[in-house]
Amino acid sequence: MMRIETSKKWTVAELREALEGANAEDQVTFGSLRKADQKNECWCGCGGLTGGKFCPGHDSKFHSLAKCVARGEAERPESFVCPEAEVDFDKWHDREKPIADAKANLKRVQEAAKPPTPIVESVEPVEGEELSELLDEVTADVE
Ligand SMILES: [Zn+2]
Repeated sequence: MMRIETSKKWTVAELREALEGANAEDQVTFGSLRKADQKNECWCGCGGLTGGKFCPGHDSKFHSLAKCVARGEAERPESFVCPEAEVDFDKWHDREKPIADAKANLKRVQEAAKPPTPIVESVEPVEGEELSELLDEVTADVE
């Protein structure tokens, strides 16, 4: 017995092809899957099947990856399960990008504003004659 899925649109060519190998006496049933029985591949790319877009919890994994890519902390996936998944990924990526860029800029400014770390060559205490000699040297440099 053959089954023709009616929840998808068939082209004549597809129907012809599906019926090609069938015997003339074969019975054909037509029907659509119940919504709950329709399984889609999880958008995150794990290969899991779900009635919606994602397996439970996988949406946050997928969206945080998009944000990591925006921050330059992760590589963009080479392929997506479907074009809609890529659009969704880009939506989260593009939302994070200006925030990530602003944070990176702020960090750069803060780094630039930081005073240089003094290099301490000696921690030997300097006292008396030696100290006044050193002070003379320093003040001479200033003048
Ligand atoms: Zn998944």
